[in-house]
Amino acid sequence: MVNVQKVPAQLQTIFHKFYKHGCMVTTAVIEGAKYLPWLTDRFIAGGGRVVQKSVESFDELCGDHDLVLNCAGLGAGQLASDPKVHPVRGHIVRVSAPWLTYFINTDDTHYFIPHSESAVVGGTLQPGRYDLGPEPEESRRIMREMEERLPPLKGAKVLHDWIGLRPARHSVRLEAQTLNCKGKQLKVVHNYGHGAYGVSLSWGTALQAAQLAQHSLGVTSKL
Ligand SMILES: Cc1cc2nc3c(=O)[nH]c(=O)nc-3n(C[C@H](O)[C@H](O)[C@H](O)COP(=O)(O)OP(=O)(O)OC[C@H]3O[C@@H](n4cnc5c(N)ncnc54)[C@H](O)[C@@H]3O)c2cc1C
Repeated sequence: MVNVQKVPAQLQTIFHKFYKHGCMVTTAVIEGAKYLPWLTDRFIAGGGRVVQKSVESFDELCGDHDLVLNCAGLGAGQLASDPKVHPVRGHIVRVSAPWLTYFINTDDTHYFIPHSESAVVGGTLQPGRYDLGPEPEESRRIMREMEERLPPLKGAKVLHDWIGLRPARHSVRLEAQTLNCKGKQLKVVHNYGHGAYGVSLSWGTALQAAQLAQHSLGVTSKL
């Protein structure tokens, strides 16, 4: 979590050039690079075991598991033969600008989010693109447009670009299914398609997925 200060009054004047309305909130920031290892540690401490393996088809899992939770993001579409899953490419620029400790999130693709050791300048929303190579011109455009909106960003040290693929779908798929494979049945709970909001939605959708899993297994809910 970072120490968030109020957006200075002079910036509010600049925002009026680009936006009709806005609001200020103080909130927590989740940093993926710290949060995911923390979650993994919790999972292992609770008795979980991590195996890194690519699954080509649910057939591979048939007969060996009581239940499979399909949280494979973009890969979930292929596993579940779901044509609605598609990538929305996101390009962000990571910078060092420790003098900026407030965030700005707009209703277009521009945002600035300070983290504890660096900050994120966004970004792009590019549906249908799978390529992960950085584009220097894109990077310069992101910085230029964000500096127009947030002049104190000028002078920030660019650390690196980062490109990721959001696993999008018209809505999150939260659904239990029983598949027939190799003459056996495989219980699956799908939890994928979070698009640009996977971190924000994760606790809510995970809770629902866990409830679906317990129902599928006939376990009394302790949730
Ligand atoms: C630039 C950018 C900015 C973002 N900003 C935000 C934000 O501010 N707030 C927010 O809430 N969300 C944000 N998101 C979206 C968020 O990152 C995703 O919604 C979230 O990561 C989806 O989580 P997931 O676990 O469903 O899928 P993923 O994170 O894609 O994880 C799926 C996992 O399944 C594995 N997998 C896939 N197929 C297979 C297979 N066949 N076999 C084995 N393993 C497989 C993958 O390797 C991966 O580890 C952002 C995304 C991007 C790209």
